[in-house]
Amino acid sequence: MRQAGTNLPKVGRYNRAVVLDQIQLADGVSRTEIAQHTGLTPQTVSGIVRRLLDEGIVREDGSSRVAGTGKPRTTLRINPDAGSAVGLHFDPVELACVVVDLLGKPLVLKRRPTPPGADPAAVVEAMADLVGDVLAEAKVPRDRVLGLGLASPGPIDQYSGMVVTPPKLAHWTRVPVKQQLSEATGLPVTLDNDATAAAIGERWSGAGKGVANFAYFFFGTGIGGGLVLNHQVHRGGSLNAAEFGHTTVLPDGPECYCGNRGCLEILVSPAAIIAETHRRLGEQVGSVLSEPFRRDPATVDHAAIRLAAASGDPLAGEIIDAAARHVASIAVSVVNITDVDLIVLGGHGIRHVETRYVDAVTAAVASRPLSRHIRVVDVAPSPLGADAAVVGGASLVLHATYSPQLSALLTD
Ligand SMILES: [Zn+2]
Repeated sequence: MRQAGTNLPKVGRYNRAVVLDQIQLADGVSRTEIAQHTGLTPQTVSGIVRRLLDEGIVREDGSSRVAGTGKPRTTLRINPDAGSAVGLHFDPVELACVVVDLLGKPLVLKRRPTPPGADPAAVVEAMADLVGDVLAEAKVPRDRVLGLGLASPGPIDQYSGMVVTPPKLAHWTRVPVKQQLSEATGLPVTLDNDATAAAIGERWSGAGKGVANFAYFFFGTGIGGGLVLNHQVHRGGSLNAAEFGHTTVLPDGPECYCGNRGCLEILVSPAAIIAETHRRLGEQVGSVLSEPFRRDPATVDHAAIRLAAASGDPLAGEIIDAAARHVASIAVSVVNITDVDLIVLGGHGIRHVETRYVDAVTAAVASRPLSRHIRVVDVAPSPLGADAAVVGGASLVLHATYSPQLSALLTD
């Protein structure tokens, strides 16, 4: 991609996004403050705000006195009811769909099992049904929806709108899901990988709000990641950056389906944690899980192991803590490579044991990265939790609408 100059219409669009971004990130902000924060002239800010008020996207919300001067200033906020966005998370096990207002606040969220066999046509039909149900329950007419953001397991080809042979989805080989879903729902569709979507959700309404540089670890069926660098989502050359799950932890470890060896994902995925727990239980190690395991090993699944760890079971705790230490090692590498200010941990795969993962990563990034003498990196559990990917899907739409995208300026 060449680095091109820019032209005035694009600058106008960019400045509008910069102003919207300021209003969205602040809990009430004035025109003067926007001008101060962005370096735009007061006249430019006024002009953009006037148009946003006319369009109903922004509203004036009372006034306050500027400290020291006593001058009144009008507070600007996003008008949450001016429109909405739909998020859809496609997981091999479950579909989740949410409709959010313009502030990213979920109005209705529904989940449904992914059709067995995961045949692409059946899945797209089930997705469209679910979108219809969610919009009906939220009483949001389709013409008020800005778009639909689909968070899908990677790898994806964003240029062609295809899902490219994701692991655990046998029938999904270059499926043009973006176009199919758009035809089935009548909505414009934005496609991104689930971890990137979740990271954008965190930037929009979660732990990463207003943070310039952060890395997001996504714990789902696998381990994904997202990177926000200098307020921009870092996608990389093939749009598949931040695959933290396929970073080597053990050079001589087991071979991974990705082609690499000793990957984080192969060591700490739900399947790995279940296998290790079953192995230890088979050795007659005492645990609250011993009796359920004796009756039916299938009941000792990932959720049961996390719940046992959360209730203080030593065996489950030990296995989860070992997984968390592997995650911590990769977090240290991520900090060394990218110099992020914050690590966010989220996704349904760490539900009930968030504090164990946060504690392990906090201890590691406080003691191991080279930059620790300059500042300590924050670590936070995702406030969106298990909903990060689906809320992130909706945030893809809001992000595309609001957020200043340098790339939009630099390309033709
Ligand atoms: Zn791998």
